[in-house]
Amino acid sequence: MIYQDYAIFTPGPVKMSEEILKLGAQQTPYFRNSEFSNITFDCEKNLLEMVNAPEGSRVVFLTASGTAGMEATVMNLLTQNDKALVINGGGFGARFVKICQTHAVPHHELKVKDTNLSDIAEIAPQEKFTSLVVNAHETSVGHLYDLNAMGDYATKNGLLYIVDAISMLVTDPLDMQESNIDVVIASSQKGLGLPPGLTMVVLAPKALEQVQEINSLYFNYKDYLSNGERGQTPYTPAVTIMLQLHGRLEQIKKRGGVAQSINNAQEVAQYFRESIKGLPLAEYSTYMPNAMTTLTPTDGKSAMDIVNDLEEKYKVMVCPNGGPERDLIFRVSHMGEMTKEYTDILIDALYDYYGKTRS
Ligand SMILES: *Cc1c(COP(=O)(O)O)cnc(C)c1O
Repeated sequence: MIYQDYAIFTPGPVKMSEEILKLGAQQTPYFRNSEFSNITFDCEKNLLEMVNAPEGSRVVFLTASGTAGMEATVMNLLTQNDKALVINGGGFGARFVKICQTHAVPHHELKVKDTNLSDIAEIAPQEKFTSLVVNAHETSVGHLYDLNAMGDYATKNGLLYIVDAISMLVTDPLDMQESNIDVVIASSQKGLGLPPGLTMVVLAPKALEQVQEINSLYFNYKDYLSNGERGQTPYTPAVTIMLQLHGRLEQIKKRGGVAQSINNAQEVAQYFRESIKGLPLAEYSTYMPNAMTTLTPTDGKSAMDIVNDLEEKYKVMVCPNGGPERDLIFRVSHMGEMTKEYTDILIDALYDYYGKTRS
């Protein structure tokens, strides 16, 4: 298998636990029965609990990657009569803009840099919007936004607040009720530490009221919501990943709940950031999540060369950036089954690479 013996620090897919890997090695069961419906119900209940969703919230389970959750949410909740304020702080924000363009949803693209949006009320244009669309963690650069400040702004202005939480769920705090979030988009292959292929969209009552009849068969939320009432999906779900999600949500609870999971990510991230202080690498973002560290070389080395060397010489996978940032930054994920010991593999490789001794 490709890269089977590599240490993996990419922001999706991420390192998975033995328990979850074992579930993935089982025969996929038949699913149109009450046993599997109960799995779905459990997943829905545990997910809603994890994000502290308001009473009456529901989950749509899509067999698709995270982008489908972003697109389907725009398709099902926004119309030509909306005006969305879309935050664009990088590649994933740009994707939301493209989705709005594709589906002819009127929108204003708010390009941001060097802010965590706690100042959103000041920097947003004084226009009448109907919704606020944002990636809680802009994974392309490793930038975490202030969910509460945006929630206050959304509430004051009566906006539907849509949050793509794909790359910060279970590593960084998210509380739907505290932040007044109406939609949370999550996906399997990031913080949840599962294989790619399953996307979960949490809809609070305010969002449920806005679900439209749309011109799509596969992505029709009404269909998912009515099937979901009996613990099923309209079409074959990613059955095995659902079973793994079920196992993973139980695992998080057993280990002390989502707070413990967030703590662990924070400890590992801090450990990594402290440990590499002796190297010519600077933190790229002021508003780093626990989920990921973005680094920029301070000695003129190309970030892409570092990524390639780590892979070829040390069998360690970190994540390069494309385009203009290709030589400027690379990314290190702390999502998934991460420990300090495992992170040492990368830290030791970096010290060896620079010919320095770790203190
Ligand atoms: C990974 C990611 C996605 C989803 O990407 P897919 O490749 O479609 O799974 C969406 N938003 C953010 C912020 C992400 O990090």
